Amino acid sequence: MIPTILPTYARAPFSFVKGEGTWLIEADGRRFLDLGAGIAVNALGHAHPALVTALTEQAQALWHTSNLYQIPKQQELADKLTSLSFADTVFFTNSGTEACELAVKMARKYGFEKDAPEKTDIITFSGSFHGRSAAGIAAAGSEKMTRGFGPLLPGFTHVPFGDHDALNAAITETTVAILIEPVQGEGGIRPVPDVCLKGLRALCDEKGLLLILDEVQCGVGRTGKLFAHEWAGITPDIMMVAKGIGGGFPIGAVLATEEAASGMTLGTHGSTYGGNPLGCAVGCAVLDHVARPDFLADVSRKAGMLRQKLEGLIAAHGDIFEEVRGTGLMLGLRCKAANGDVVQAGYDQQLLTVGAADNVVRLLPPLTIAEDEIAEAVTRLEAAARSLSAA
Ligand SMILES: *Cc1c(COP(=O)(O)O)cnc(C)c1O
Repeated sequence: MIPTILPTYARAPFSFVKGEGTWLIEADGRRFLDLGAGIAVNALGHAHPALVTALTEQAQALWHTSNLYQIPKQQELADKLTSLSFADTVFFTNSGTEACELAVKMARKYGFEKDAPEKTDIITFSGSFHGRSAAGIAAAGSEKMTRGFGPLLPGFTHVPFGDHDALNAAITETTVAILIEPVQGEGGIRPVPDVCLKGLRALCDEKGLLLILDEVQCGVGRTGKLFAHEWAGITPDIMMVAKGIGGGFPIGAVLATEEAASGMTLGTHGSTYGGNPLGCAVGCAVLDHVARPDFLADVSRKAGMLRQKLEGLIAAHGDIFEEVRGTGLMLGLRCKAANGDVVQAGYDQQLLTVGAADNVVRLLPPLTIAEDEIAEAVTRLEAAARSLSAA
């Protein structure tokens, strides 16, 4: 009989009832060190007092009106995001996938208005992930996500990750945009080198294409800059954000320049819940913390510490681990053992990590993780590695 919850997830047998900072707690009091953070979502950890306050104060005042009316918290969050980024304008969604949908629509509309109706195609990369909607799976294009779900939304050209020649060859007169994650998340924590992001920007400028960055996983402080592309000193035309911006409350956003957004006029897009007061109140509180230069510097400092300890771990357990890659607190341990076994061995040490493609185990702790928790996490990874070596 089919479970009452549609069985699309292989769930670990833990039921957490409470969260405190970097820790998740079961009903019997068992505490797990959380280096998954709900897949890079709980940027300020669990039950951060500022977020609890922002949400409960808003909940007591007003939950939902509609985008038919002014929403002051939405305006406040849009003002913060535009003042902190390249963007001139923001549309709020409830998830990363919905942000992807709008980014695709916005790019197509731009092509339609600016050049010609046939300028519709978006170039994407192997190993990418842009969500599970019809556009999201067509954009990523992997067999794993698309099999059985055809006919797929047309208009995406897939290029091997890192293949510059294939990218150049893929650009035609119907191309309108290039869509890329500055650091691939699901694909196995694969950063796009700064020089390549610069090259992509130059290429888009030269060919009159929009550069769309999917920062759903790598954005909002995760890499030690508010947005990952800042490391490369470039700006996109359109950017998708979600996950960390809500710190656990479902909210996403599309940020864009005035030029890129110019086709999105009255009535061309909408959302019932997008930008609702609850999500925007939390988003404002998240940004008030994460966007602070001292907070971001601290992320980089702690990331350096974690990375150094992981290098030591790899040196000591070369039979289990191969390399550490990634940037900031978005790190991937490429494994020699099966990554699923490493995640499971971590569970046995009450340590939560997340698998990814390319046999990688992702470490995506809350950005607020403390130094002693970093040390504790590596101690638990070490114990996990020893148990696998002994097996
Ligand atoms: C998680 C993710 C998405 C999809 O976000 P949802 O909120 O799950 O819809 C899109 N792009 C990237 C890079 C992601 O990591």
